[in-house]
Amino acid sequence: MNQPQDPGLKQTLKQSLKTILTMAAENPRTVCVFDLDSTLFNVSPRTQQILHEFAELHKPELKKVEILHTDWGLKEALVRAGYKFDESPELHKTLRDFWVDRFFTNTYLHYDIPYRGAVPYVQRLHETGCEIHYLTGRDVARMGVGTLEVLQKWGFPIREGCLHLKPHRSMDDHVFKIDWVVDRFPISQYPPETSPVYFFENEPVNINALGKIRPDIHIIQLDTTHSRQEDVNVPVIKVSNFYIEEDK
Ligand SMILES: [Mg+2]
Repeated sequence: MNQPQDPGLKQTLKQSLKTILTMAAENPRTVCVFDLDSTLFNVSPRTQQILHEFAELHKPELKKVEILHTDWGLKEALVRAGYKFDESPELHKTLRDFWVDRFFTNTYLHYDIPYRGAVPYVQRLHETGCEIHYLTGRDVARMGVGTLEVLQKWGFPIREGCLHLKPHRSMDDHVFKIDWVVDRFPISQYPPETSPVYFFENEPVNINALGKIRPDIHIIQLDTTHSRQEDVNVPVIKVSNFYIEEDK
């Protein structure tokens, strides 16, 4: 499955997601590791709420700016709405600071909405006996409590030791995730022949780092949004959400 995508190998969303479910059902030692932001959760409602609160306080016309799930942060939505950064740097700095102060907090995580099919998909994997992990660049101090609350609120399966957040906000996400895979995940207990490992992730920086260090891990890229820093340069399967038709 972990092959470069070409027309002959390309699998549809439904086929690839269902294949993983089948694999997990047949192999009780399957492991699935999920990123949260822009992988299981659409975070654009979080940014939309923050922008709305800023508009109420400082600039009412910003209420009309719509944040799309394909946007990375605020800038792309503002540019699309015609706001030029070089014409009003102070507004953008104030807004950016306002956003940072809220986006990375327990309270605002509650505005996130799982992507289509995400909850039943992870539940079904869990029901097969698959070992589920949530590995996120959110940090413990600012978002630990809210992350657990939101996973429970939406019905994602939780067990002790399944949630892994950054110990400190200053750590790079990809460094944290590699550190987890190499040092904290007992990888020797999961030989690829008997224990397939699937990573679900949206960010190419993380995907490239993981794919390089563990080419035997199967990576599923959520084609939602990302930081625009890198293009994916390792084999992945791309999906846009977790919807499988038969879940209707
Ligand atoms: Mg992410």
